[in-house]
Amino acid sequence: MSAIVAIVGRPNVGKSTFFNRLIQRREAIVDAVSGVTRDRHYGKSDWNGKEFSLIDTGGYVVGSDDIFEQEIDKQVELAIEEADAIIFMVDVESGITGMDEDVSKLLRRVNKPVFLAVNKVDNAMRAEDAVEFYNLGLGDFYTLSSINGSGSGELLDAIVKVLPDVEEEVSDLPRFAVVGRPNAGKSSFINALIGEDRYIVTDIAGTTRDSIDTKYNRFGFEFNLVDTAGIRRKAKVKEDLEFYSVMRSVRAIEHSDVCLLLLDATRGFDGQVENIFWLAQRNNKGIVILVNKWDLVEDKETNTIKHYTNKIKQAIEPFTDVPILFISVLTKQRIFKAIETAVEVYKNRNVKIPTRKFNDTMLPIIENYPPPAYKGKFVKIKFCMQLPTPYPQFAFFCNLPQYVREPYKRYLENKLRENFNFSGVPISVFMRKK
Ligand code: GDP
Ligand code: GDP
Repeated sequence: MSAIVAIVGRPNVGKSTFFNRLIQRREAIVDAVSGVTRDRHYGKSDWNGKEFSLIDTGGYVVGSDDIFEQEIDKQVELAIEEADAIIFMVDVESGITGMDEDVSKLLRRVNKPVFLAVNKVDNAMRAEDAVEFYNLGLGDFYTLSSINGSGSGELLDAIVKVLPDVEEEVSDLPRFAVVGRPNAGKSSFINALIGEDRYIVTDIAGTTRDSIDTKYNRFGFEFNLVDTAGIRRKAKVKEDLEFYSVMRSVRAIEHSDVCLLLLDATRGFDGQVENIFWLAQRNNKGIVILVNKWDLVEDKETNTIKHYTNKIKQAIEPFTDVPILFISVLTKQRIFKAIETAVEVYKNRNVKIPTRKFNDTMLPIIENYPPPAYKGKFVKIKFCMQLPTPYPQFAFFCNLPQYVREPYKRYLENKLRENFNFSGVPISVFMRKK
């Protein structure tokens, strides 16, 4: 889990250029591991050893050139609610605009750290022009050039200094987050889980300010429901925009062990649902997909479920080893099964395979189909083990790790999944030099 930094500002000031600069350095490495498509507006970065999640709010606005001011205001308000720190980016080329002043007004009232970043300061002359931004009443500012990278170090130094330390919390109970687009039925589902008689045992204040894990005992299972500020205050924002679903989901996902991804059966597993899925996957959280409102689907032959399942699996390739359940919160159909499955995924995610057993299983498989020769070199995998990490990661030790290509790693992952139960759990496979 990591702190959340949001970049706000009007269109064209350079938010996404800056975002990409910070994310790419790191994603290049991550991509090599998983090979999964990336959301272009949400990613992880780190500076001086401190990891944080970065959100480019502007990235979620379509046709951002003629965006309404109102929309920006709403985004800023949401960023203020959900983020631990805010970068407010302005553009030295254009100077202060009316929209900048509006955003400043909102930000001046905030008691979260706000960093005014004057972008496009590509040379010393422009540094002098930047002085006008004192007029925004936000105090000191940082000058940077997202294009050539200058200045970003000072800004990042200042940011990581104020970010809270949010370690991976240790909890004996599964922490479930209910995520999905607006109107998927999340609140109804949570209410169904909680029941008329609230089975609350205790409230445990989370390690960060505004997240609370509430402990429940329901259907014979004990679990914590990650109740974020976002979920509790949901009435405020009803818009069906990707930005809101993502922003609301980020914190809940980061605090959870398993995400219950709810979708509306009548709307399907669309791109926005997919984005939330990858958010959870990238955070290495367990995932259960719940196709809700199944009561509204009229033609319910066996094939309907099969077709629906196949469609979802196509969208989530290559990580298809995920439970998909068809539920109705309204009729309470398979609600119990949903929780039971989430508990199973939680257990799968915590499995530690003994090294001996792992080698006994995997080495014969590797011997049977070794990594193909690459550039005339033969790779010999000698030993493998599960790493002692909070979620499943596996290292395969060999003479030439750099010569093992992505398809072979995928093959190892598939074999691993065939032989051990990691249903619903993202796993990582690394090649290491030995
Ligand atoms: P966003 O709408 O705020 O995300 O802005 P973009 O990142 O898309 O950038 C808008 C334009 O400004 C693009 O043409 C960028 O190439 C340009 N730009 C971004 N950062 C800089 C910078 O540091 N210097 C200069 N000169 N141009 C920049
Ligand atoms: P949220 O925005 O994801 O929290 O969604 P809500 O829980 O507010 O639900 C949105 C709407 O869908 C409400 O009108 C619910 O009554 C309705 N709804 C939720 N679950 C079901 C279901 O299983 N079947 C049907 N038919 N409607 C549902």
